[in-house]
Amino acid sequence: MTDGMTLAATLVSDHLAGARAMPVVGDMRASQILAHLAAHYTLDTPQTPEEVITDLFQLLRRGGIHASHPAYFGLFNPGVPPVAAAAATLVSALNPQLGAASHGRAAILIEQHVLRCLAGSIGYDPESSAAHFTSGGQEANTEAVLMALTHTFPETRELGIRSLDRGPVLYISEEAHHSFDKAAQVVGLGREAVRRIPVDGAFRMDLAALEEAIAADHAGGRRPMMVVGTAGSTASGSIDDLEAVAGVCHAHGLWFHCDAAWGGAALLSPLTRPHLAGIEQSDSVTWDAHKWLQMPLGAGMFFTRHADLPRVAFATDSPYMPPRHQVGDPYETSMQWSRRGAGIPLLAFMATMGWEGMASMVERMTLLGERLVNRLVAAGFKMVNATPLPVVCFTHPAIERGGTTVQSLAQTVDRTGRAWIAPIELPGGLPALRACITNHLTEDRDLDVLIATLQEAMGTSTSMG
Ligand SMILES: *Cc1c(COP(=O)(O)O)cnc(C)c1O
Repeated sequence: MTDGMTLAATLVSDHLAGARAMPVVGDMRASQILAHLAAHYTLDTPQTPEEVITDLFQLLRRGGIHASHPAYFGLFNPGVPPVAAAAATLVSALNPQLGAASHGRAAILIEQHVLRCLAGSIGYDPESSAAHFTSGGQEANTEAVLMALTHTFPETRELGIRSLDRGPVLYISEEAHHSFDKAAQVVGLGREAVRRIPVDGAFRMDLAALEEAIAADHAGGRRPMMVVGTAGSTASGSIDDLEAVAGVCHAHGLWFHCDAAWGGAALLSPLTRPHLAGIEQSDSVTWDAHKWLQMPLGAGMFFTRHADLPRVAFATDSPYMPPRHQVGDPYETSMQWSRRGAGIPLLAFMATMGWEGMASMVERMTLLGERLVNRLVAAGFKMVNATPLPVVCFTHPAIERGGTTVQSLAQTVDRTGRAWIAPIELPGGLPALRACITNHLTEDRDLDVLIATLQEAMGTSTSMG
């Protein structure tokens, strides 16, 4: 075959099977990539599909960081299981249109099936809640703010925020994801409407401070609308006390959104589920399939217990759309219109794993996180976060003494191409190194590599510094 399809399948399958053999960080710089594009892609002479696929494969491999590498201890980006990549290929080739049920009947029902399974894991009633796939957590969090607004102030659907005499505000912790700044802006509340509540020593929302902030906003003529509890914060993996947040929301009549973009997977094991207790009382949940659930990018999920609300928020009267189908048209119940079947690879993966396989994946990765903590401590590093989930934030006495910096250490690790970790700043301006077990293929031997690489990096950077 010369259409590139067979070649792509071979390249992809070899790549995924041999992920550990390649450097975690590709060697091509942006300037080299630009020069290559300028030289080879003038588009003057047509190339064969096989030439193009071979070349693009090399560029993608050499010009970036590989989340598919088991020693990538990175930012929640997963290693994609082959069956998910295969299912994503089906989606690309058959290209079902999930905007309208008349076109994408099976695709829509496949997604609804997997969403109903996961709604049950949250503790929602699958029959009386609603869910859909999104482009990611940013879109799901934006929808959550819009749902809270539509629920609390139905008049804003037609008249917008300007119809309100008191500006709505929402509460997130200092450790919460910054997507809520953009969400508040997009929805029209403005970024000023986002109140960042201080955190305790374990980077969890300080609930007394939350109560004070709500009281201060009432007194100041604002309208408290929504509290976001984070279940697995991006920097430190901290989990807010979701039961307590639910209690505050209940007492004040506020929308309770739970941002479990990464941590949602912990719901799948009976060993980790208790850490998210209270999530079942939420009004809505963000949960990304493209993080801990190991899906290719572009697969977020939004859940709400208010089954009718998405239609209230999103339905339109469009003369050019086919008549409404019994399955329900997703363009009327979510932000996107034309939509890719991002959820189909998730059902494929979960079907090959089964519930037990999903639970043991979560447990194995969580245990690796615990082992990483123990090994780092044994190697002289100091933990600075405390979470039952596999995000490990740490420092070293030499960093605290100013002998080296987290940036320099992360860069040294990065340059070896053997592992990847992130330098971060925690609330209070605390610098730390962050290693997350984010790839289902990660094993003990990858922890060995990380520890050895870090120790070497400590040696070079402290002796140079
Ligand atoms: C990653 C993340 C987001 C943003 O999700 P995207 O899928 O990157 O858009 C939101 N909240 C949390 C807690 C996250 O970790």
